[in-house]
Amino acid sequence: MYNQNRIKNILTMTAEHQKITVYGWIRTKRESKTFTFLEINDGSCVTNLQVIVDHSENDTRLRALNTGASVQIDGTIEPSQGKQPLELHTTIDSVTLFGEADGATYPLQKKRHSLEYLREIGHLRPRTNTIAAVMRIRSRASFAIHNFFQSKGFYYIHTPLISASDCEGAGQMFQVTTLPLEKVPTENGEVDYSKDFFGKKTSLTVSGQLEAEIYATAMGNCYTFGPTFRAEHSNTTRHLAEFWMIEPEMAFCDIDGDMDTAESLLKYVIKDVMDNCADDLSFLNQWIDKGLLARLQQICEQPFARITYTQAIEELEKAIKSGVKFEFPVKWGNDLQSEHERYLTENIYKCPVTVTGYPKEIKAFYMKLNDDKKTVRAMDILVPGIGEIIGGSEREENYNILLQRINELGLDEKDYSWYLELRKFGTVPHAGFGLGFERLILLLTGMQNIRDVIPFPRTFKNAEF
Ligand code: ATP
Ligand code: MN
Repeated sequence: MYNQNRIKNILTMTAEHQKITVYGWIRTKRESKTFTFLEINDGSCVTNLQVIVDHSENDTRLRALNTGASVQIDGTIEPSQGKQPLELHTTIDSVTLFGEADGATYPLQKKRHSLEYLREIGHLRPRTNTIAAVMRIRSRASFAIHNFFQSKGFYYIHTPLISASDCEGAGQMFQVTTLPLEKVPTENGEVDYSKDFFGKKTSLTVSGQLEAEIYATAMGNCYTFGPTFRAEHSNTTRHLAEFWMIEPEMAFCDIDGDMDTAESLLKYVIKDVMDNCADDLSFLNQWIDKGLLARLQQICEQPFARITYTQAIEELEKAIKSGVKFEFPVKWGNDLQSEHERYLTENIYKCPVTVTGYPKEIKAFYMKLNDDKKTVRAMDILVPGIGEIIGGSEREENYNILLQRINELGLDEKDYSWYLELRKFGTVPHAGFGLGFERLILLLTGMQNIRDVIPFPRTFKNAEF
């Protein structure tokens, strides 16, 4: 047994009276005296295959054919009078039951369940239309991302998940250790990491960027696409502790090339998903977010707005003067909060916005300093409904300036010796960005909560399975 004939394909068949076999789960059953309608779903598409089963009155085998039961059905494809183009005709003898699902205890009933409830039954929620549609889009989007980069000659570099370099924000990292927690070896009161597995302190990576830079400054354009980990205590609808990130790194590229690549990547993936997941998108447009399709279409067609951080602050100050209230203060030098980001993209520009030239104090040490010595060549892309979806920059390629920034920020120069050497030997202008994959899926699906666009969400105090 190996089922290759998925309902998605069956529904496009043209031949009548053709004998086929379908495998799947019963979504609904409507019984009458001598025939019964079954709606079968196999996870390949939103649409169910309608099956008409002939039987004699009071056939006892019908009792087990309930919502949730798994079956094999052999029958013939016929044109349908109903909504779908086709239906399957069969008799009760040709229905094989694999597994029953007791109606009294099966947690997924015919009715609509809340996404909160579905999160509590993570092992069954992919059997719903919403979660399955999201995960099909997620699958397609990852394929599209690889296509985008591969077609442009980028190399896919697998950067390590266990990292010895404390790349971005300290304190957000998950430590990796085999030291016994109940009896940690110490040396003068300090943990003795020489006894640890790697002989030093290690963590799960928060970003593959620094390692991607190593390969970009040798092989040209590269990208990583893998899981990253951040011990985010913040309980928001946009943060996970384990999320996937796409990080291209381009040699001989400046901030403008970086912005162009990011914008065309987003447009490419949206268009690809609109072309290849049309049914899933229209399902989500109907049931989750009525503005989804129009918004995606608009994002593909219009150039993104491009502004500086200073302009962003001015626009937000104007908004405040005209009576808009924000929870967090707006002031040159402060980081933009998601309420500010969303106001810029949703209310002022009404399209995605790329913001550049952030104050160096609120950005990472590796970002290239502008001539004003106050701002860096960073760029964030803000999108409606979410806020920041991409964060990137041109990298500081000047050895002395980078060293000075490392010292200014109190980082240990020794930890970055290899990173500095990339600037010592054949340094090149280069740039890159990080696109949060789950934030992209939020954009693509209109879903509101990041926990519903990853199969197994990991958040503060929550790791099931
Ligand atoms: P934010 O300010 O929204 O917390 P960040 O500035 O800390 O994000 P970056 O370090 O710039 O994030 O990471 C690059 C991208 O990764 C972000 O633009 C975002 O799309 C995504 N991202 C960052 N943190 C998370 C997270 N905890 N969960 C999901 N995606 C994330
Ligand atoms: Mn960022």
